[in-house]
Amino acid sequence: MTRILVVEDEQPIREMVRFALEKAGFDVQEAGDAEAALLALAARLPDLVLLDWMLPGMSGIELARRLRREEVTAQLPVILLTARADENDRVHGLDVGADDYVTKPFSPRELVARINAVLRRVQGAGGEGVVEIGGLRLDSASHRVEAGGEPLALAPTEFRLLRFFMTHPDRVYSREQLLDHVWGRSVFVEERTVDVHIRRLRKALSAAGCDRLVQTVRGAGYRFSARP
Ligand code: CA
Repeated sequence: MTRILVVEDEQPIREMVRFALEKAGFDVQEAGDAEAALLALAARLPDLVLLDWMLPGMSGIELARRLRREEVTAQLPVILLTARADENDRVHGLDVGADDYVTKPFSPRELVARINAVLRRVQGAGGEGVVEIGGLRLDSASHRVEAGGEPLALAPTEFRLLRFFMTHPDRVYSREQLLDHVWGRSVFVEERTVDVHIRRLRKALSAAGCDRLVQTVRGAGYRFSARP
């Protein structure tokens, strides 16, 4: 059964979310703050974390950052819950490593749809094979990426983006095409989300000097190539 960890300090919301998710067939675990969430994560990894932005003590954003930094949780899908509808906050949330974003108040139906969309994306990233291009080595089976023999920690969306690029090199893809291939035809994702994840992917690759492989093609989109 797919397990979801719900991190939310407001009990009525937690209960509403639990009710909706259990009805949708998920196994739900609750945490009232980031510290409780870390304990729950150390005991057993869920399939996805639903994380409230505003928490007492360590904020949801801080926790999301921390999860991305740790090797064990770097690939764990995270959906942020927030009362803020502001577009800058939205982008900021994606920047710290969230896979998606749900603004309160949300309907249980919308929440379940978003969770399923993120899980589909993660599960769709499977497939066998090792690809090597420009000093990068990506193993789909083990979800490992190495640059010059050193392991790279990538969030789930960046991993799928890189996997798509590495299996489709030297071709230009528009943002819309990347959304279709990497995110699937989800009605919830905007084209600028692609730019956010491209930026994060480049940042992750830059430590190994491999960010040059992800190339911007002005007016057209992005291309992955070992050629300048
Ligand atoms: Ca809260």
